[in-house]
Formats: sequence, C-alpha cells, structure tokens
Amino acid sequence: ITSRLPKVGTTIFTVMSALAQQHNAVNLGQGFPDFDCDPRLLDAVNAAMRRGLNQYPPMAGVLPLREAIAQKLARLYGHAYDPVNEITITAGATQAILTAILAIVHPGDEVIVLDPSYDSYEPNIELAGGRAVHVPLTPRTFRPDFDRIAAAIGPRTRAIVINTPHNPSATVWSADDMQRLAELLRPTNILVIADEVYEHMVFDGAQHESVSRSPELAARSFVVSSFGKTYHVTGWKVGYVAAPAPLMAEFRKVHQFNVFTVNTPVQHGLADYMADPTPYEQLPGFYQRKRDLFRDGLASTRLKLLSTTGSYFQSVDYSEVSDLSEEAFCRWLTSEVGVAAIPLSAFYPGGFEQKLARFCFAKKDETLKLALERLNDRF
Ligand code: PMP
Ligand code: GLN
Repeated sequence: ITSRLPKVGTTIFTVMSALAQQHNAVNLGQGFPDFDCDPRLLDAVNAAMRRGLNQYPPMAGVLPLREAIAQKLARLYGHAYDPVNEITITAGATQAILTAILAIVHPGDEVIVLDPSYDSYEPNIELAGGRAVHVPLTPRTFRPDFDRIAAAIGPRTRAIVINTPHNPSATVWSADDMQRLAELLRPTNILVIADEVYEHMVFDGAQHESVSRSPELAARSFVVSSFGKTYHVTGWKVGYVAAPAPLMAEFRKVHQFNVFTVNTPVQHGLADYMADPTPYEQLPGFYQRKRDLFRDGLASTRLKLLSTTGSYFQSVDYSEVSDLSEEAFCRWLTSEVGVAAIPLSAFYPGGFEQKLARFCFAKKDETLKLALERLNDRF
C-alpha cells in the first residue's frame, strides 16, 4: 500500500531499548523510570477498581480528576480552567498532541516545529495533511530564536508546537521567552500546542513557565501534560490537555472518535492521589539529586556535559572520544560499553550531526552508578 508516512520507520526509542536488551546494556536511552511509583498511588487505583469503577467514564474523563487538574493549574500557574469544558483526559501526552493537531490543522496548513523536536510532532502534522515548518533552536544553547520563528510565519501558519522543559536538550523557557512568544503571536491567529510533560522537573531554583501563566497565550493554547512523567508510571499512558472552551470543543470532536475515553480506575486513582501536592512538589529535588549524581560521575571523563535545567535528560558531547555519527556512536556505546543512549539526530527530521548523545537519569542510583562505572572505565 502507499504509505501515509513514507519517511517514518520504527522510533529510535524502540530501536535503542531493543538493542539495550539484546546486549544486556544499562538502558539510559528511552526515557522512563526503572523504579516503581508510590505504593499509595497503586492503592488508590486498586481501591477504585474494587469500588466497581470499571466501566466507561465520561468521554472527557472523570470529573474528580479534571477538577484536581484544574485546581493544580490554578494553584501553580494562576489560570482558572473550567474542569467541565476546558480539560480532557487523554491516553498520554502522545494522544493529546495528535488529537490537538488533528482538531486544528487543515490540509495545506503549516505548523512551526522547533528543532530538535520530539519525534511524534512531524508525523502528527503530516497525518493531518499539514506541513511541518522546521525552525532550529539556537546552536548548542537550544534557545528559541524569535527572529527565525518570525521569519517562518506565513499566511498558512496554523500553529506552533513548543516544548518546555525540553526533550532532548533539557533547557527551560524563561518568562522573557514566553513574553516574546506572546508578542510575536499577538497580531496573528496562530495557536500554540505547549508540550509541558516535564513541568515538574525544573532544577536550581528555576521555575516552569507554563503558557497558562500568560492569559494572552492561554487563550490560544492547548496545554499538554502527562501523569506518566510526573508519577513514574509511563506505562499507564494517561495525560491531559487544557484549553479554552472553543478550542476544547474542537479537540473533543476528534477525541471522541479517536479513543473516546481513557481507563476509568486509573483516572479515579490519580484524582485521589492528586489531593496531596507533595509528590509533585518533591519531584524537582528528587530529580536534581539524580542529575547531580550522574553529572558528578561523568565530570572526569572526556564526555562533555551540556547543561541540564529541566526534564530527566542529560546530553553529552562525545567529540573527544569518537568520530562516529550519533546513531553509530549510540549503537556502539550500547553494544561495546554496555550503556544505551539516544542520538540527538533522531530529534531532527532528516538528521543533523553534532556529536551529541542523550542519557536518561530517571533511574535507581544503583543503575546510574553501574552506567557511570562503565563510562568511566572507557572514557
Ligand atoms: N512529549 C515529550 C517531549 C516526551 O518526552 C514524551 C514522552 N517521551 C511525550 C510527549 C509523550 O508522553 P506520554 O508517554 O504521556 O504519551
Ligand atoms: N519520551 C520518551 C523519550 O524521549 C520515549 C517515549 C517513547 O518511547 N515513545 O525517551
């Protein structure tokens, strides 16, 4: 058959996890924790199942969870979303982003994507019949370059996808960046898809700048997050999207014929668990310690550390140790050194070589220490 996505193969995350398994390597490639979630969350989901909450929930998600999310967004970012009309529970952030794109992108529309970018954005845009217009972040520092973004805007620009804290570069947008984005979009009808899945992983006292902090940006934005990242349950695939009612109405038209709705007992369990903000309040400290353990452990190697202000990723410049291309280096690292990583080139459609590899530090300390031993022995 004629492929709808001729350029797409198997995602790098699947490829590298399989390779890690094959070589019994420490898997610091695909981003997921190797430790379990809080047992209280498991108890909450279990209790929901035992209460008989096992049939279809409402299409937009169970109301207690939407209310808990609305309260969190109001508390952290000062924006009052209406849980009835402005929040929808999704099957992870992946489905939220795809559904938002399908809901707003018409054939021939353009969507601005800032590279390096998460690998689902461009295929999502193409499935909607749109075209991704790629704008690079600044070289090495990975900041938004507003002059280049402005130059990419045209009459067909329907939306821009932004991601902060950023996968893979681990940078975080500043309040000034958000202000510049708001000013740039003010004379346009361009919508924003804000991928904020790492919202609770921001370090060194920095603050997450959600688009929902800005009334002007919130009015044109889909704000996307994921419980998988926040509560160490990536396999549950539950996330959410918040957006003004007219945008959400369009989102739900697609959502109801996409998945219709999402796992009931997990939603109730998450709603109960969210009553206590402590778990997400402790997340920055929890991951900052792991980041520092990992960075300190690499400090005396010839792998040069890029800065990490947010997310659970640490990238390194390996140019002093190898001339291999990024993917070849990551494959070699997995099979010969026993540590899996992800090439940054995978986040640039068509590829782009900078000798950068990304490690995920959402791992038990013992896992990180084993990887560090292997990396220190070799480099
Ligand atoms: N966006 C980014 C930037 C991500 O890193 C991820 C997870 N790897 C997702 C979206 C998808 O999140 P989920 O697992 O909730 O679908
Ligand atoms: N988001 C995760 C990462 O960047 C992977 C998710 C996936 O496997 N698609 O590593």
